[in-house]
Parts: sequence; C-alpha cells; structure tokens
Amino acid sequence: MHEYSIVEALVDRVAAEARARHATAVHRLSVRIGELSGVDVGLLTTAFAIFRDRTICESADLEVQSVPARWECPDCGGVVGPGTMLRCVRCGAPARLAAGDEIVLDRIEMEVA
Ligand SMILES: [Zn+2]
Repeated sequence: MHEYSIVEALVDRVAAEARARHATAVHRLSVRIGELSGVDVGLLTTAFAIFRDRTICESADLEVQSVPARWECPDCGGVVGPGTMLRCVRCGAPARLAAGDEIVLDRIEMEVA
C-alpha cells in the first residue's frame, strides 16, 4: 500500500523532529495532500492509525488538508482555471501545475519537556 510507505516516511520525519527538540510526545500532525498526489486520504488515515502504535506519534491526531489542483501559466503567471484547456488564455502557453500534487508535512504539535 502506497499510503503505508508515506505514513512510514511521515512518522520517521516527525520522530527526527521530536528527537531534535527533545519532545516527549506528539499531539497532532497536519499534512497537506494535493488532489493529484495519488494519495487516498481515507487509506492514509487508516495507515496512520495502524502505524503510529509504539512510535512517538501513538497518541497523535492526523489532520489532513486537501489541496485542489491549480494550474498557472509559466510565462505570465496567469491562473488557468480547472475544466478549461490547460493553456493560458492571455498568451497561450501550456499551463504548469502550481498546486495539487504535493504531500507536505505542514505542522507538528509536540510536548517539549
Ligand atoms: Zn500566460
């Protein structure tokens, strides 16, 4: 399961951050998941609930913020709307994906002794 390896990497990252700050517990993680990232948010939260056992994250909540896909023009910076041709209406350049494929660890709330 793809989501399981994402969760594993996420928990590793958080554990490293927690160690660096001498944290005793992690209360909450916030992640941003782009709609085109290929991540199933339901599977991700399920994988997290299983994987967090016996890690620093075992009592942590996972908060997932979904990010809609957004395209923009690489030449003039114009926003290219969803559902239209993926070309800039101003200059006709092919649009570039500006958001929506990310998997980002946004925030960690932890207990520091
Ligand atoms: Zn343009």
